[in-house]
Amino acid sequence: MFCVYIHVPFCKKVCDYCDFRVMPSQSKIFAEYTDLLCKQIVSFEGGNPGLLASARTLYLGGGTPSELPAEFLHRIFECLASVGLDISKLNEVSMEFNPESTSRQSVQNAVELGVNRISLGIQTFDANLLKLVGRSHSVEAGLEALNLLTCTSNLQVNADLMFDLPGQTVEGFLADVDRLSDFPLNHVSFYGLNVSPRSRLGHRVDRGELAVNEDLYEPMYMSGVEILKRKGFERYEVSNFARPGFESAHNQNYWNRGEYAGFGPGAHSYLHAVRYYAPEIYPRWRDYVKSGCPESMLSFDRLRREDEIMELLWLSLRQSRGISTEDLEKMGIALDKSVCERWISKGFLKHGNLSNLLQSKSCLRLEGRGWIFMDDIVTDLANTYSNLE
Ligand code: SF4
Repeated sequence: MFCVYIHVPFCKKVCDYCDFRVMPSQSKIFAEYTDLLCKQIVSFEGGNPGLLASARTLYLGGGTPSELPAEFLHRIFECLASVGLDISKLNEVSMEFNPESTSRQSVQNAVELGVNRISLGIQTFDANLLKLVGRSHSVEAGLEALNLLTCTSNLQVNADLMFDLPGQTVEGFLADVDRLSDFPLNHVSFYGLNVSPRSRLGHRVDRGELAVNEDLYEPMYMSGVEILKRKGFERYEVSNFARPGFESAHNQNYWNRGEYAGFGPGAHSYLHAVRYYAPEIYPRWRDYVKSGCPESMLSFDRLRREDEIMELLWLSLRQSRGISTEDLEKMGIALDKSVCERWISKGFLKHGNLSNLLQSKSCLRLEGRGWIFMDDIVTDLANTYSNLE
């Protein structure tokens, strides 16, 4: 499957924990960004005629795409249509929203453009924690946005939470999960805070002003999963939970190592088994597009065979479906039986079956506390596999 990603690098203000390449929204730059983005899309189409028309999903992420005023979103969608991408035929058109830029008008605009899935950054319902991590929205704005989105017809809604925030208690996080999952959503994601040393929050942690209690990660994650399970959400990826049939097709394509093209500063692409990305810093990306998108200004991640195997293990095991023997055979490897058995005996891995209408394949998937120890398990398997003759 081939998918398209558009990166919108603007946010109302940069959150204290953020280490993405984003910048505060500046209305004067929106027109320039839109022009450049459209040029990048048209240039890609010139080099890959017809490919964009074959896309099955479109995802506008960031940053905060809902910060972009309607006229610019319209121009982006017009540009995509001009290169043959028929939005009405896509399986999924997702757009990320944050509460501070969610209004009746902005939602209606998105839906009129063909957006059928909105992902909302709630993060927590605790006013003190929202302030502590430097989010732009209030608890009330988050609740209003949730009410508005979940009352909009023909819209699938995801909401994100964060956990293991400085000072957050297990009870506090579980109350967030409980409250969020009482809304009529069909998808929930939650992510443990990753303190980047280059973020403002990271500097405060370095100075000893704040601390993250890593011991709370496991009880928060495991109990959060249980609450969602009771409420009908199935975990299909380590951080993603959906009512059956509402899994994100776009994100599954990434995890299944499908092809995609990304547009915007730093957006990654994966085509013909090559991963590459345009310059991340806005002025450098502007130079890249103004110079006609030369290949010489792209960065390439050239994966060696061992990197590809690591990637396959990593992307497969993070999904509930696990890794199939067929995928391993295609890659020409066999996992070390004794290593697998060691993790299975601990209850962290288990054998299973992947079945569809045509066939049933055996697979290996994470189990129980294995979801917490995913990194260790993947590293162990990647260090001990053998090549098939
Ligand atoms: S909303 Fe997301 S992308 Fe924007 S600053 Fe906050 S964490 Fe970063």
